[in-house]
Amino acid sequence: MVAQCVKCGNHKWNKKVEDNRITCPNCGYSWTFNKLPLFILTGCSGIGKTTTAHELMFSTEDIVVLDADFFFNIMPHETQDDYLQQVEKLEDLSKNIMQVGKPVLWAMAGNLDKLNGVYNRQFFSDIFCLALVCDEETLRHRMMQGRGIGDEEWIQSSIQYNNYFKTHTAINDMPFDVCDTEGKKIEEVVEDVKKWVTEKMARSK
Ligand SMILES: [Zn+2]
Repeated sequence: MVAQCVKCGNHKWNKKVEDNRITCPNCGYSWTFNKLPLFILTGCSGIGKTTTAHELMFSTEDIVVLDADFFFNIMPHETQDDYLQQVEKLEDLSKNIMQVGKPVLWAMAGNLDKLNGVYNRQFFSDIFCLALVCDEETLRHRMMQGRGIGDEEWIQSSIQYNNYFKTHTAINDMPFDVCDTEGKKIEEVVEDVKKWVTEKMARSK
């Protein structure tokens, strides 16, 4: 909706975006919009993304907090292109929500490498990712005791993903920051995430 031309009705994804101005290539009409950063809270399966996002949702009115599983549940999820389409929808929805003047944060495990590769990317000033990590034994405990997961393959893939975040700074062209949750209470992790968002917002202006 934010990118729909109200002068000629052009709803195609062919708009040009420069700074915070959208231009319709069909009729030349242009308009301004709220261009804000997009936030991603990531981390391996079992790390506590959903718990953190849920707590964050009720502790601030400054960030719109959502769960990317929404797209997984309603869209195909077999191929890489399916996941690219999910990311496209996520960014399409986000750019519209942001017109209220607040940033959007998604809890999202994967697909970080696709965030820069979609049409709707141009509607954000930046994309910032924060990966929650913890020690391997804590993760194993959380998955087995906390969530009742007995599938060793699942646990191992999660441990590997957690290690990746601890030993890297980017997935392909998407850099990420890291928040070590080891030994922290949920309230402390939520405060860390809020502080991170505030800092990034200030830097992105
Ligand atoms: Zn137009």
